[in-house]
Amino acid sequence: MKDRTRVNHPPRVELPPDNRPLVAPIYQNVKFEFETVEENERYLRGERPGFYYSRSTNPTVRQLELTLAELQGREDCLALGSGVASISVVLLTLLAAGDHVLCFAETYGPTVHAIRRIMARFGVTHTMLSIEDEAGIESALAARPTKLVVFESPTNPVLKIADIARITAAARAHGALTVMDNTFAGFHNHGQYPVDVFLHSLTKYASGHGDVMGGAIIADRAILSKLKGDANVIGAALDPHAAFLIQRGLRTYFVRYENQCRAAQRIAEHLERHAGVASVSYPGLASHPRHALARAQMKDFGTIVSIELPGDAAATARFTNALTLFASVASLGSTESLVIPARLQSQHNLNAEERAWAGMRPGTVRLSVGLEDVDDLIADLERGLVAAAEG
Ligand SMILES: *Cc1c(COP(=O)(O)O)cnc(C)c1O
Repeated sequence: MKDRTRVNHPPRVELPPDNRPLVAPIYQNVKFEFETVEENERYLRGERPGFYYSRSTNPTVRQLELTLAELQGREDCLALGSGVASISVVLLTLLAAGDHVLCFAETYGPTVHAIRRIMARFGVTHTMLSIEDEAGIESALAARPTKLVVFESPTNPVLKIADIARITAAARAHGALTVMDNTFAGFHNHGQYPVDVFLHSLTKYASGHGDVMGGAIIADRAILSKLKGDANVIGAALDPHAAFLIQRGLRTYFVRYENQCRAAQRIAEHLERHAGVASVSYPGLASHPRHALARAQMKDFGTIVSIELPGDAAATARFTNALTLFASVASLGSTESLVIPARLQSQHNLNAEERAWAGMRPGTVRLSVGLEDVDDLIADLERGLVAAAEG
């Protein structure tokens, strides 16, 4: 073999069968070969296991998918290139012209955009309600055939709690599938409810370190197998290296999430007592209107705290600018703490009434609590509140 050939056919290194790496290797690989054309054909007919092309599946991505399915308590998972990709793939693969979707004002902005702007162009209609309007949900489902009910809990950014048992029961009674974006609550929450499809942004708690993007669709096999063929053609695949980093992040998922919840509870309690804060929304506070429901539904109350500052929007800017430990960016669920005035989050797809349901006011600020020392975080917030009051 000449050198020119050798560099394109490097020697193979095979591990002995009784010798394995503790961390699975990254299959940074697009193509997988079968020994014969006949075996390749059997694979394409679904008659044998294997891998063929990384847009449809890859061993590193598959390991992540199997981990996430188990964490969320469902049979299978499809991991994709971002959280938004998982939302778009669910909408594009499960909906057709003439279908109706039930969705909510307290929903992640890009999800509303996808339903209201993109799916509407393909003849999909929707009804927008408030997530706390259970009677409205039941009557909307009774009034017309509905394909999907798309919701979140706790909601973004003011942490309302959806009544999951009631919503899933109403949807089942009327033959609608429920799609729950479970990013805020995490993989260890809500699996006990008959939610048909869970969505997650892996960019948040799964990776945990704010350095990689990914998304996941988690459901039972019947739904996922229907969706995988179309998803392969949409092409929002997760890169194997990103999958590896997310799998690595998951090793500390519980340690991070539990510590961040404890710190969030302390911060919420501290801010609730603070004269410089008009109100605090955190499902772990007894003052949260649905604290009892959150306690019944969730194992913990999450790492996001929403506060309302007195005064105008300028107060939220003074508060945010004065913080040194909380980085002022979008996103959440990182090891470092983050802050964002709610008005920076997209609301342009909501009308005035829906904005009121969403609960965002000029003084609303969202905190994502990280892994720093909680006393340092509270001292930082004190600095912010002094600055906010100086207007
Ligand atoms: C961030 C987020 C998404 C989108 O995830 P990306 O990975 O940024 O595409 C979807 N839903 C919720 C609730 C989120 O917070």
